[in-house]
Amino acid sequence: MNLPLEFDKVFVQPIMDPVLTERSIEVSVLRIDKLHPVISGNKWFKLKYHLEDAADKDFGTIASFGGAYSNHLAATAFACKEAGLKSVGIIRGERDAHLSHTLQQAEEDGMQLIFVSRNDFKDIKNIKEKLSQPDWYWINTGGYSLLGAKGAAEIFNWIDDSYTHILCAAGTGTMMAGLIKAAKEPQTIIGINSMKNEKLLNDVNDLLSEIEIQKKYALLHDYHFGGFAKHPAALIDFMKRIWHEQQLPTDIVYTAKLLFAAYDLIQKKYFQENSKLMIIHSGGLQGNLSLPPNTLPF
Ligand SMILES: *Cc1c(COP(=O)(O)O)cnc(C)c1O
Repeated sequence: MNLPLEFDKVFVQPIMDPVLTERSIEVSVLRIDKLHPVISGNKWFKLKYHLEDAADKDFGTIASFGGAYSNHLAATAFACKEAGLKSVGIIRGERDAHLSHTLQQAEEDGMQLIFVSRNDFKDIKNIKEKLSQPDWYWINTGGYSLLGAKGAAEIFNWIDDSYTHILCAAGTGTMMAGLIKAAKEPQTIIGINSMKNEKLLNDVNDLLSEIEIQKKYALLHDYHFGGFAKHPAALIDFMKRIWHEQQLPTDIVYTAKLLFAAYDLIQKKYFQENSKLMIIHSGGLQGNLSLPPNTLPF
């Protein structure tokens, strides 16, 4: 599959902060957001094996699920357009007069949007039975599956054994599961839950084998800032701060909360001296376009 992804633009950005020197902690950010503005970061990795599987089985249409801020649907729409596949997005909730930027993007990239009431959306099986066509290949919400996790594990190709902790944002937990699969014995994966969903750890565990479940990982629930896609002023202020201090752009849904958590955990001495952290910048920057103009300096 020939997509316009720029693997050579991915880089490791060191974070410089006096607190880190003081604590002898090294922190870097893996900028996989640089891969592409829309199929940014982790979304490509989660889609990859699904699209291959669909192509192998001769499906012509990819269908998936999401809400108004679904980077997954925007990425799916774009990837399908590039791959010459049709795409369908089943959206939670009624169609708003004003579509979110993320859904506008998906629609512009040719995705057929089908809006389903919040209540009906709870019964995914029923939606599939009602709507499915013979050539539709279904991908779960957020690319959640073993195939999704297998793709996400490849993010680890940029992470060497010297890192003690790998930090990532978690929505469906697919990326986190993939990173756990790829981690080496002494490394710890830390997921920052971007939602209020306390059951998320079960979803992560469901993608792991009995052996992988023994590995070192933790999912932290204290950094959702009020819930999925909520972005109070304190979060926006923090985003401005790390832009000014580190020239690091973050998104309101996932990576800002992740970076905030990393700073907070370092402050609270969560990590021992001489720890070496890799923070995954999983992309999502296009989601910031749903903010009023000029909210952010980047
Ligand atoms: C979708 C997304 C995530 C969440 O990934 P999951 O595999 O669903 O946990 C994290 N960061 C960004 C930027 C995303 O777009």
